[in-house]
Amino acid sequence: MRRFELLLPQSVDECVRTLAQQGPETKLLAGGTDLLPQLKNGLLKPARVIDLSGVAQLRAIESANGQGLRIGSAVTARTLELDRTVQGRYLSLAESGALVGSVQVRNLATLGGNLCNAAPSADMAPPLLALDAEAIIVGPKGERRVPVATFFTGVRKTVLAPDELLVELALPATGPNSGGNYLRHTPRRELDIAVVGVASQLTLANGVCAKARIALAAVAPVPLRATGAERALEGQRVTPELIARAADLALEVARPISDQRGSADFRRHLVRVLTRRTLTTALARASA
Ligand SMILES: Cc1cc2nc3c(=O)[nH]c(=O)nc-3n(C[C@H](O)[C@H](O)[C@H](O)COP(=O)(O)OP(=O)(O)OC[C@H]3O[C@@H](n4cnc5c(N)ncnc54)[C@H](O)[C@@H]3O)c2cc1C
Repeated sequence: MRRFELLLPQSVDECVRTLAQQGPETKLLAGGTDLLPQLKNGLLKPARVIDLSGVAQLRAIESANGQGLRIGSAVTARTLELDRTVQGRYLSLAESGALVGSVQVRNLATLGGNLCNAAPSADMAPPLLALDAEAIIVGPKGERRVPVATFFTGVRKTVLAPDELLVELALPATGPNSGGNYLRHTPRRELDIAVVGVASQLTLANGVCAKARIALAAVAPVPLRATGAERALEGQRVTPELIARAADLALEVARPISDQRGSADFRRHLVRVLTRRTLTTALARASA
């Protein structure tokens, strides 16, 4: 591993200034569960690493004016798994956090690191797409907000410029008649990455689906929404037959590859099964 200079900013402003001064051979370090293996394997050879552990703002979870939630980018998967507010209002996100690695990994792995590493299989991405979350990004030109649905631009690529920092994720309020669920399939029960992951979120009004969101991971270069399936549900009374039809429609956006973890056909099968299961659970939770 190449030797690097370690920098420890104490605030978002200091971090952004440091990024701007240090130039492109600089990498940010959150939990290090993706970055450190990449450094050790020689895939990345930065001259400088900025450790985010001194920036308290990045670890905060705050209600936004009683509406919605702002989650700092350095909040860990373990915190999301256990946080009462996240469990109560954004259960699919808590469920995805609970699936990341082992307890040891979850104590380090951050939400921001999961998104910025931009693996197609990132578990915490689909719930954020299904919850209409926005990424709050800060750079030398100030702050900008990007829907998480457009944050990813390719395998391990995002809209972040080299001098920008992902600061927070803003989640809108879900409302009382809303329910969500995240499920993934892995060949091993633990310490494995998703062959396919699906998050669904349903909001009901007068017994009819007012809003539907379905997001898929590991079936395309980036996590993505199954908008055709969402449209089929919206404005309708959600029945098992309609859920089965939405699960078929979710396949329209999937462009899976075959690899050692599963064939493209198997991934298509999983999209159907997991969409059906997550919608069924989301409906039950929205109706409870
Ligand atoms: C044994 C093991 C099991 C795993 N299991 C899973 C799993 O089940 N599911 C899953 O999805 N992932 C899994 N992972 C991958 C990893 O743990 C997650 O992706 C984790 O959330 C990454 O977060 P981190 O804080 O460790 O990121 P880091 O490694 O610190 O950073 C990852 C990338 O994001 C960048 N970055 C970090 N924070 C910011 C920020 N605020 N702004 C801009 N860029 C930033 C870094 O520069 C780096 O490029 C596993 C990893 C290991 C080692």
